[in-house]
Amino acid sequence: MKDLEFPIFKTKKENDRPFNLSDPKEREEYFLFKASDEIGAIQRYLEESAFIVYLLGKKSAGKGTYSKMLAEVIDPEKIDHFSIGDMIREIDKELKDEDKKRELLSFLEKNYRGVNSIEEIMEILQGRSTTKLLPTDFILTMVKREISKRGRKVIFIDGFPRNMDQISYSLFFRDLIDYRDDADFFVLIDVPEQVIDERVKWRKICPKCNTSRNLKLLPTSKIDYNKEKDEFNLICDNKDCVGEKMVRKEGDEAGIDPIRGRLETDEKLIKQAFNLYGIPKILLRNSVPVEEADKYVSKYELTPEYNYKWNEEKGEVDIIETPWVIKDDNGVESYSLMAPPVVVSFIKQLAELLKSN
Ligand SMILES: [Zn+2]
Repeated sequence: MKDLEFPIFKTKKENDRPFNLSDPKEREEYFLFKASDEIGAIQRYLEESAFIVYLLGKKSAGKGTYSKMLAEVIDPEKIDHFSIGDMIREIDKELKDEDKKRELLSFLEKNYRGVNSIEEIMEILQGRSTTKLLPTDFILTMVKREISKRGRKVIFIDGFPRNMDQISYSLFFRDLIDYRDDADFFVLIDVPEQVIDERVKWRKICPKCNTSRNLKLLPTSKIDYNKEKDEFNLICDNKDCVGEKMVRKEGDEAGIDPIRGRLETDEKLIKQAFNLYGIPKILLRNSVPVEEADKYVSKYELTPEYNYKWNEEKGEVDIIETPWVIKDDNGVESYSLMAPPVVVSFIKQLAELLKSN
């Protein structure tokens, strides 16, 4: 972020050996090699307790990726990730089903407090444009319902707080959901905008199973060459899928340009949360300056970039892997970390915080 640098986290270890981080099995070994004590400590903590996490990062910063990977390592049964966006889409569906709509209304009658009447809330819900924010008191009521549905689990909340107003609410949120006396943390994520931009620009989605990959940064194991168009395509390699050609979503070629306003608001939010007192914070940093990288991380922990060449002789695609250098938001030449090392720093900071809880 501009003018705000998170500390660089050291994941480099003695006796480090290269792990193939895109392989699930090796990734598991990697986590145990880097953080087995901390993983054990968090698992023991979860035998008796739970906690709530507010994820704050820019759009496409990897909030879902990091929290899902952490859950995978610790215990997917005990950790739930939910996004306000998904929750709202779910509510939109409920409104179309008469029984569910009645249930929702009776929940609101019992639990909702706020400046709008329930009738007004319903009107806003049914007639709103997608850009309009829903009233905070309504969102809070809905988050409360969502949490009560899930029982006593660790919950990663993605998309709340969404504006300055909601930041103050989030400070007291734990007290509002009265049946829980769990720890709560902010997790702040710093990813350079150039990284987000290229993630969006080169993103490819499988039209069959919705798996998302990246032509430049995270290819599949099968690459197809179209001679006529002189273009390379990713072929979905999800084992439950049929091997579709992955495609770009409309608008993605523009990168972050259309969402600049949103990114700016997100940045303000992160900075405000960074300066809060009293609530513990975990800081996740995606980039490492090229000059200092060797002190902190191992080469295999850095995101490479992939280029492709058609090999006429062999009749196959040559994949060329090179280091990917980007400028961070302050103009410093940097590497972007792969998700697993960021999750290692997440695990270690989390274990440290839970110790004192
Ligand atoms: Zn697929």
